[in-house]
Amino acid sequence: MSKTFSLGGIHPHDNKISAAASIENFPLVDTAYISMSQHLGAPAEPVVAKGDIVKVGQLIAKSSGFISANIHSSVSGVVSSVELLPDLSGTMVQHVVIKVDGDVWMENIDRSEEIVGEIKLSGPEIIAKIAECGIVGLGGAAFPTNIKLSPPPGKKAEYLIINGAECEPYLTSDYRIMVESPEQILIGTKIMMRALNVKNAYFGVEDNKPKAIKLLKKIAGKNYPEIKIVPLTKRYPQGGEKQMIEAITGRQVPSMGLPIDVGVVVQNVGTALAVYEAVQKNKPLFDGIVTITGNCMTEQRNFRLRVGTTFDTMMYAIGGLPKDAVKLISGGPMMGKAVCRMDAASVKSTSALLLLTEAETKRGVESNCIRCAKCVDACPMGLEPYLLNRLSRADRIEDLEEHMVHDCIECGCCLYTCPSNIPLLDTIRLSKAQVIKIIRSRPKK
Ligand code: SF4
Ligand code: SF4
Repeated sequence: MSKTFSLGGIHPHDNKISAAASIENFPLVDTAYISMSQHLGAPAEPVVAKGDIVKVGQLIAKSSGFISANIHSSVSGVVSSVELLPDLSGTMVQHVVIKVDGDVWMENIDRSEEIVGEIKLSGPEIIAKIAECGIVGLGGAAFPTNIKLSPPPGKKAEYLIINGAECEPYLTSDYRIMVESPEQILIGTKIMMRALNVKNAYFGVEDNKPKAIKLLKKIAGKNYPEIKIVPLTKRYPQGGEKQMIEAITGRQVPSMGLPIDVGVVVQNVGTALAVYEAVQKNKPLFDGIVTITGNCMTEQRNFRLRVGTTFDTMMYAIGGLPKDAVKLISGGPMMGKAVCRMDAASVKSTSALLLLTEAETKRGVESNCIRCAKCVDACPMGLEPYLLNRLSRADRIEDLEEHMVHDCIECGCCLYTCPSNIPLLDTIRLSKAQVIKIIRSRPKK
């Protein structure tokens, strides 16, 4: 029987209309715009300058702090500038711009199709290789993977969980990875188990992906019995870290706590593939699997896309922006970010580009709260969204902290269910940021 979490959640239509689209290599771009802020933490520091010639996979920027990540070129060619350019929300961020010339890769990257099963590196060597290759979490937050695989003193991981829920509607990049590269991601899981020194791993997959579950169970059962494939109920936000941990282990991550506080480390399917490629193939993270989808598109696509490809270029490659598309979202409809700049470029964690029509984006007119409590029933964190919204609008910061606004995972379930069309997520998100800033500024006890 499928497992699930205990509180709240919703059942939006999953719209996995791109599920059958096999992964294609995205055509080579003319120019790559590679951001220095592709991960959580300090931006990377460029180590190349205008006029330098670079190869695919060459280091172009170095991690600049404890939480930061190396960045490698996704193309070969000549660096034409290092300059501030807008990201998808319009914020100016330093980029390395490379004029593409051919497709020349670093010689030490193994480009063969051969699957390498034997893991030769020790735990510390694996963590060093992952850091060197600039691997970050590809489930959304882009947290440097080497840090996540190095629990702080006094904490010990008992389980590794691979998150293959892909509970956001429309997204199918993780699904395609699971059905096209199952052996590689199971080896990636084994590599991370060695890095963490854990004996057991769980691989959670929503039960709307029976083909992936069957395939993974077959391969894991034969070659990797220490990795258990766990079917999960199709229910949003099943892929939330805290929801997945509860569904699989029954453990509850404490307020303001981390999965490692309950002995768990969670990594995404895409990250498992990136780890496999880094450790077994010496390939840094400079590309990823991206779904381009929407009901207004005639053909749904999944691409292996190089980092630094602009949204404009993506639209050009699919034959232009469909005429009824009015909004582009990077990611899924529940937690994705609106694309405000078509000249902005993809980053390591870009997983999807969703095209929506006017009818699909229309928000109803806001009316008064009717105290129906639908938002409370839907909240997977046990919060009272109607109350948080009221407190937020009254700027009652202390009360917001008392009512645990900082525990909000910004899943949008409350907004989705509200019959009065109150923009609950928008107000709660703003207050959450304020409260977390205050909590973090307090001296540690
Ligand atoms: S966005 Fe926050 S408040 Fe709303 S349902 Fe999700 S966790 Fe609860
Ligand atoms: S769902 Fe909307 S209308 Fe119902 S209690 Fe919550 S905020 Fe009020």
